Amino acid sequence: MKFLKGVGPGRAEALSAAGLDTVRDLLFFFPYRYEDRRHPARIADLGRLVDSPVLLRGKVVSAGAKVSPVKRMKIFEVMFDDGSGTVMLVWFNQPYLADQIERGDRLAIYGVPKTSGRGGRLQIESPDWEKIEEGEVEGAIVPIYSKVANIPPKAFRRIMAQALDSIGDLEDPMPVTTRELLGVVGLAEAVEAIHRPPELTPGFLRYRSPAHLRVVMQEFFTFQLALRVRRATEEVTKKTRRITIDDDLRAEVKKVLPFRLTGAQKRVLREIADDLREDRPMYRLLQGDVGSGKTIVALIAAMIMIRNGHQVALLAPTEILVEQHYQRIRQLLDHSVVVARATGSMTAGERRTLQAGLRDGYIQLVVGTHAILEEKISFRSLGLAIVDEQHRFGVEQRQKLFSKGETPDILVMTATPIPRSLALAMYGDLELSVIDELPPGRQRIKTAVRGASEIERVYQFADREIAGGAQVYVVYPIIEESVKLNLKPLSEGYEHIQKRFPGRRVAMMHGRMKSDEKDETMVRFKRGEIDILVATTVIEVGIDVPNASIMIIMDADRFGLSQLHQLRGRVGRGERKSYCILIRNSKAAPDASARLDMFEATKDGFEVAERDLALRGPGEFLGTRQSGVARFRFGNILRDHDLMEKSRDAAIGVIESEGVEAADALTRRLLGAAANVATSRD
Ligand code: ADP
Ligand code: MG
Repeated sequence: MKFLKGVGPGRAEALSAAGLDTVRDLLFFFPYRYEDRRHPARIADLGRLVDSPVLLRGKVVSAGAKVSPVKRMKIFEVMFDDGSGTVMLVWFNQPYLADQIERGDRLAIYGVPKTSGRGGRLQIESPDWEKIEEGEVEGAIVPIYSKVANIPPKAFRRIMAQALDSIGDLEDPMPVTTRELLGVVGLAEAVEAIHRPPELTPGFLRYRSPAHLRVVMQEFFTFQLALRVRRATEEVTKKTRRITIDDDLRAEVKKVLPFRLTGAQKRVLREIADDLREDRPMYRLLQGDVGSGKTIVALIAAMIMIRNGHQVALLAPTEILVEQHYQRIRQLLDHSVVVARATGSMTAGERRTLQAGLRDGYIQLVVGTHAILEEKISFRSLGLAIVDEQHRFGVEQRQKLFSKGETPDILVMTATPIPRSLALAMYGDLELSVIDELPPGRQRIKTAVRGASEIERVYQFADREIAGGAQVYVVYPIIEESVKLNLKPLSEGYEHIQKRFPGRRVAMMHGRMKSDEKDETMVRFKRGEIDILVATTVIEVGIDVPNASIMIIMDADRFGLSQLHQLRGRVGRGERKSYCILIRNSKAAPDASARLDMFEATKDGFEVAERDLALRGPGEFLGTRQSGVARFRFGNILRDHDLMEKSRDAAIGVIESEGVEAADALTRRLLGAAANVATSRD
């Protein structure tokens, strides 16, 4: 770096501190935006440009620092004139600007004009600025870089220009064949175009130019290839158990099945059964929309494992779900398998019995919450771990479960249909099975958004349906995870519903109730002894009561889309025509309100998830702490999801056609060649 003009020891150090040690690092330090300085706006036109960023070129008429009496902040003000008019530029708490900007200076500034408090005059707060020097060519597309220490932008661009002069030396780690496979341009060409775009075409601004495609694809492809190669070369993980599926087992499975499997269920079951018989442990994500019938698939997988002499753990996020799974399994398997429950509310005695039963292998299937993960729990031979509704579990918890067996097969199930792109970024090494078909005879759920003022008509409708034998959920927005659960809205809602429906049997349920109380309520609801269940989102996942056909969600605008979809999935499980009625809060923000309207029109869970993800971003969508999403420097999973899929297919193709060794060599070359991929995971 010191060979570059304008880089003395001081700047070299500053660059190094920013991770820019070599010319190559510089080349991969991309602008975060561009200014088309060929077309500055006119101050006289700013009135029409309020709230959108503009570029101005002009002269400083006056400049001065003062202390704002209101906010007690130091402010620096510049009166700026471009010949068509004047506008005030304001910076807060940057008093040193007084030494840098003075009257008579010519500046290019970039910022957002806003109407100020003072008589509605226009001003621009904290704009980016740069001095225009005498004789400087005007009218170029200028790349704007994040600031590196105190190096002025113009000086930085001069340094970058020298790096770009040597772009011919930039080695392309991607062989031509791979480039052709991915359909991307050469690296030098791409990098140069990103620093010096000849035009700011719409495609370029959307990161969809050939240059962007090259850089993003390289990053994604490297990530996918590395994951695939790692998985293909793992040695330690060979399983010792041998799984066979004979006719007796087939007959037994047939006998327990209460219905015919759908085509999609059969397909994923085959995928799972094949995995179980493989040498390497299964690591598979089973996705299926709410109600698509994942449980039975998991259960058959469990039977296969158990009949081959190994144990199975089924992990669920709530005690209610554990109970439901437990009951259903007992009903289906009818004592032919020894099943136990594990929950946090076990007594010491129950805990000991459970521990002993799992250790000596007497218990063949354990259904439980995270209580299964307790240290004292060990298995004689855990062959299969099934995690239901995995979005509720952190990576660490899953890891714990995995360590309870000798390379157990792992099946992760989720009904938050994680968009495929995100699933690939989260678990590029998980195989994906998708149930994309609902069991036959399902009722289409009618979804409707209603204003709070229309609630009485909703109640009347619900009452008529109850008279016809239907059951109803009423959900209030209370955050279950919060430690200090504020139940007031729920208990008020409960009273309100009781008053409104004096002749009906109304019950309440929330996450802080004792688990036996919850279970009892659930059982009574299932038996039809409760007409209206007033609840929090504790009923969000997995609950299956076929006779419940109306879901009323209060203040629906406060829920995320995927959550609404989960709630909606609680109805439409039986013969009855079903309804999901979203009550919009009268104070709902316009965008929240628009979301509800969109939801009303969308019934496919994957589509809902895609939109939810686009609205909230991966962190929020998955719950930030447990997202485990790979972070990329150039690629963006939301923006570039199609590229992630393409990269994965290409990575699989390369391994198949060229073999693992060649793929491994290519991975190393790609990884070593550029500071281009961040694969850090939570
Ligand atoms: P989810 O995928 O949401 O976990 P479940 O496994 O709870 O869905 O199944 C939803 C409901 O559909 C259950 O009542 C289940 O018994 C039923 N079901 C599952 N598969 C079929 C099928 N092939 N035919 C009919 N009903 C089915
Ligand atoms: Mg389920």
